[in-house]
Amino acid sequence: MRNKNIPLDIEKLNAYINLYGFEESENLKMLRDETKKLGDIAIMQIGQTQGKLIEMLCRIGNYKKCIEIGVFTGYSSICIAQGMADDGKLYAIDCDRKNTEIAKKYWKKCNLEKKISLIIDDGINALNKILQDHPKQSFDLVFIDADKNNYINYYNLALELLKKGGLMLIDNTIWKGKIFNDNDKTESTTSIRKLNDIIAKDIRVDHCLLTIYDGMTLCIKK
Ligand code: SAH
Ligand code: CA
Repeated sequence: MRNKNIPLDIEKLNAYINLYGFEESENLKMLRDETKKLGDIAIMQIGQTQGKLIEMLCRIGNYKKCIEIGVFTGYSSICIAQGMADDGKLYAIDCDRKNTEIAKKYWKKCNLEKKISLIIDDGINALNKILQDHPKQSFDLVFIDADKNNYINYYNLALELLKKGGLMLIDNTIWKGKIFNDNDKTESTTSIRKLNDIIAKDIRVDHCLLTIYDGMTLCIKK
């Protein structure tokens, strides 16, 4: 009888994925190395296969107007911008000036600086400003990867910004498994758990929670 419960060796899986799972450009490799030097916070960077998937989704959609909340050193913004249409624009939001200097340096190296507009502001403020300056429901993609406590607010604002058929990507929706540990009642875990529940019941979106990296939920606005 076939044993369905053979435990997967995660180290072997990761080694295999690193060999066969994606191709990473020299610039992205350099950015990953430079980010590692920042210490523990480097874990905030998205995964390599995840980055490749995001780039491919943006390419399939030929997206022109995108928003990212949570730039850090720029890995995900580069993936989005590389996939987008040549005349597309990514509004990249982060409240931190220091690490986004690294992002700016790599946008330039990748010839993407014209495609990306950096907005240094609090995520909620920035999204509200974008809502004032652009027609409602005019964005193709919103990628959410900033402070977890505001995830539900970002989700609701993103639904106002996205056009019908637009794609929302929400990072860290598995949160290293903390979402299904009922004893974990921290604000960030509770917030992600609540958002996952909202999305599962929300008739305004079609959704799919991927187990890639730390979990990424895809929501298509109906
Ligand atoms: N997507 C990035 C990782 C983002 S890490 C990558 O691929 O590398 C999360 C980022 O959210 C941090 O840079 C942090 O400064 C930013 N952030 C946290 N709280 C925020 C807020 N309230 N408004 C805007 N940005 C915020
Ligand atoms: Ca993340």
